[in-house]
Amino acid sequence: MPHPSTTAQPLRVRFGTLLGFDPARRQKLERAGSKLADVLNSVEFRDAVLAMRFDGKPGFADDRRNPSQVYAAVLAAKERFTARADGEVDLNVELRTLSPKHDDVVGFTRDGSDRVTTNVRFFDRFDSSEVAGHLAHEWLHTLGFHHGTRATPARAHSVPYALGELVERLAGRRHLTPLPRFRERRLAKVRRE
Ligand SMILES: [Zn+2]
Repeated sequence: MPHPSTTAQPLRVRFGTLLGFDPARRQKLERAGSKLADVLNSVEFRDAVLAMRFDGKPGFADDRRNPSQVYAAVLAAKERFTARADGEVDLNVELRTLSPKHDDVVGFTRDGSDRVTTNVRFFDRFDSSEVAGHLAHEWLHTLGFHHGTRATPARAHSVPYALGELVERLAGRRHLTPLPRFRERRLAKVRRE
């Protein structure tokens, strides 16, 4: 299967405005961000995204793009609020206590908002791989990916849910294979030193 061309640079995760983080939580967030970057730049992530199927066909629920197009959109990393595809995962995160009515929600990103809101109750309970999966899910919303509001079985196959789960699972691995292009760059760098 032909792979979509990869970007010349590995994706970076950049945190912008952070609200409600004390130093320990900030450290956990940074750890999750670095795991997220490792997953997005891995062969395992690429292959799993390109193999995604829904309803007996390659693809996802709630989106008509095929897996290659979805993967290309992830690599382009063009959030709705950034001017261009900068190859950077831009995340503004607000950590807070949600109202009792919404306390069973891990977090959310409102349409048109550049801010991810994370429920502190879940953040504290999650390990850094789970936080990475949560950040991926919400970041995919900022790229314009959606899912249904009702928890149907199909929803698990939407881009934010399917890829969020995938990121969480891969983030827990001890070893991930960097995409070949980046591996060559790394080797080239080592050789020059
Ligand atoms: Zn969502």
